[in-house]
Amino acid sequence: MEDESRPSTDDTQTDPFELLGNEQRAAIVETLGDARVEAGVRPTVSFSELRARADLDIPSSQFNYHLQRLLGTFVEKTEDGYRMRVEGRLVYQALRAGTFDRAGPASTHDLDVDCYYCDGTLQATFEDGVARVECRDCEHLYEILGVPPAVLNADGDDAVERFVGHCRQKRFAFANGDCPTCGAAVGTEIRRSPEIPFDDDETAVVRVYRLCENCGDQFYLSLGEALLYDPAVVSFCLERGLDVVRTPSWEIPFAATDRSVALLSEEPLRLSLTVSLADDELELVVDGSLAVVERNRR
Ligand SMILES: [Zn+2]
Ligand SMILES: [Zn+2]
Repeated sequence: MEDESRPSTDDTQTDPFELLGNEQRAAIVETLGDARVEAGVRPTVSFSELRARADLDIPSSQFNYHLQRLLGTFVEKTEDGYRMRVEGRLVYQALRAGTFDRAGPASTHDLDVDCYYCDGTLQATFEDGVARVECRDCEHLYEILGVPPAVLNADGDDAVERFVGHCRQKRFAFANGDCPTCGAAVGTEIRRSPEIPFDDDETAVVRVYRLCENCGDQFYLSLGEALLYDPAVVSFCLERGLDVVRTPSWEIPFAATDRSVALLSEEPLRLSLTVSLADDELELVVDGSLAVVERNRR
């Protein structure tokens, strides 16, 4: 349970970038965020304690000025002192999660997975905050994703595991139409070849482009990835020994390539995904909004 009651507020129109573009105000938000991490709940901190903890070399009146500027947006005042609002916590978490000055050197990891297009082996490369999964030989790109420092800085095999987990939660949210960063609904756009980015070898048939217009987070999914969490797909695969929730998408043939994807009609747009396992087939037909209009077993 989260200790986050939301007070009514009159002024939510203040520009957050302007508010935090100041060292002292950023330090106050950081101090209240650290206090919440220490306490496990959202603590209320008195003015004098907050000022002591923030340890800023400024007079009390100046500290108070900056604190007042944060009220109603990132910080709220109670009878006992000051505490973080939900908005402040989100900013604190975003800054902590995105602190790239702790990023380690570039690294490459063999994935022990055969390429679907040649005799090569897949590898994961982490560099400059970006993770790529591609074939060592033909360089076919299977995944590219910006990843936070906690993933990049994990040791050895742990980095791959963190990366797989990070991909999973991103893909799960986007596949379901939810923005994993801000919680807004994401848009759905079916991109057709040749209007598909990251498709240098032109092997893609379609990509599902999902953009969050609220915060700008976005993701390109293969049709197989977009339908990976359809209940019929999950159970069909699990009954035949494939756990699509835990398995990295580059190890799932119908998600890693578009060989199971067919364009059935243009008007109205109908696409099919055929999952073949253990001599059985499950076909899903979707429309342009990615709604499943048919599920066929063969
Ligand atoms: Zn290859
Ligand atoms: Zn968003």
